Amino acid sequence: MVTTGHTDADHFHEECGVFGVFGHPDAAALTALGLHALQHRGQEAAGIVAYDGEQFSAHRGMGLVSDNFSSKEVIERLRGHAAIGHVRYATTGEVVMRNVQPLFADFEFGGLAICHNGNLTNSYQLRRQLVRRGSLFQSTSDTEVIIHLIATSLKETVVDRLTDALRQVEGAYSLVGLSQDALIGLRDPLGVRPLVIGKLADAWILSSESCALDIIGANFVRDVEAGEIVMIGPGGVKSLKPFDPAAKRFCVFEYIYFARPDSVMEGHSVYEARKRIGQELAREAPVDADVVVPVPDSGVPAALGYAAESGIPFELGIIRNHYVGRTFIEPTDQIRHLGVRLKHNANRADLEGKRVILVDDSIVRGTTSTKIVDMVRRAGAREVHMRISSPPTSHPCFYGIATPRRDQLLASRFDTAAMAEFIGADSLAFVSIEGLYRAMGEPRRQPGAPRYCDACFTGDYPIPLIDAENGKVSVQLSLLAETV
Ligand code: AMP
Repeated sequence: MVTTGHTDADHFHEECGVFGVFGHPDAAALTALGLHALQHRGQEAAGIVAYDGEQFSAHRGMGLVSDNFSSKEVIERLRGHAAIGHVRYATTGEVVMRNVQPLFADFEFGGLAICHNGNLTNSYQLRRQLVRRGSLFQSTSDTEVIIHLIATSLKETVVDRLTDALRQVEGAYSLVGLSQDALIGLRDPLGVRPLVIGKLADAWILSSESCALDIIGANFVRDVEAGEIVMIGPGGVKSLKPFDPAAKRFCVFEYIYFARPDSVMEGHSVYEARKRIGQELAREAPVDADVVVPVPDSGVPAALGYAAESGIPFELGIIRNHYVGRTFIEPTDQIRHLGVRLKHNANRADLEGKRVILVDDSIVRGTTSTKIVDMVRRAGAREVHMRISSPPTSHPCFYGIATPRRDQLLASRFDTAAMAEFIGADSLAFVSIEGLYRAMGEPRRQPGAPRYCDACFTGDYPIPLIDAENGKVSVQLSLLAETV
């Protein structure tokens, strides 16, 4: 069996960023810049497909955007006024190159490239059906399921075929496509994953996050709405709403951890949201201490909020090496343990003899917190109080954020007191789910109709987990290991 990354062999996780440009002579260069700004959403592979009015050209590769798109020659070969691009965190091993997006296919109506951020929850089932009907899959990615559904649709136009395909799909997805006529953007009916529209002079931009608009000097226009398809052509933006209306459930973890703090999502600045969550945390879980120290970088805004609300001084008691990637995204446990030490170092001068409040955004397996608490103690801290700016992560995400299996989540095994003991802290507290909603400007979490997807904290999954319920924990089993 081919192993697939940092957790278990049959899990295949995707964390991705998508970007697209229509109507600019340097579409591919702008897309490469946009992907740079989205690099935090996936660091294992990057790809761009461009269209010049006559032909599509593509370049994809393993590694960072800068590993693949720094050369002038590569960008010059990606000619045209339109381009789409993708960054992803995917698997390791030799099978992975065929999964690198954007995927491209020639259809009856012409060429179409697509890439997506998210995860389909019935793609195993759909793949089985398609293979039975004769589809030959080249990759293990969800995106290819969408391509085959488009290919087998009996509808006429690109948009009708796409809609037909997506009506069969369950899951969370933000998709960007490029046909011969249009740049296409769409979000799933609940709008779980983000996608925004921008404008740069006469050109239109689509991006997972608004921070990538800033990097190219584009203006933010609006979020693509939940369940909306936008077709962007020479005539501008055409909006379609082919799905039954549903209450929006944007992913609250984008605000807590995943998005860049300089992005604005669904009307909220990510940075401000994180600070407000830190303030809530200080109100809910105060503690007498000398200093508030963030676990950088993701803990910084929440720690600022905690310090402001509590009046306890904020110090950078831990320094991060910026040339090491996110520890969570390392392939093996051994490397992950090593990675934490490579990434953070204690700033002894600000910790020695102090009662320290450490602020981080989440505890997943507990690896980071355990290492950091130990590091802070070794630097001479008298007391270490851990404060987490999310509720306990007790359930895995099936909608596009990489999380380990449930039994590997610390919060599914232990209560808060036992977790505190596990990580070696004098005390541990998480912001409550109600506190999180208050920080997001909601009076409370409405049971039965919460404003956000918070399944990782509540187990309330808003989109059916069809494959998981059929015993298929993840849909993208390796083709080499599985006959479907
Ligand atoms: P762990 O060490 O397993 O408890 O993971 C918690 C750390 O990983 C925290 O410092 C988070 O900032 C970070 N983190 C949480 N979720 C993710 C994710 N989906 N991908 C990468 N890093 C994450």
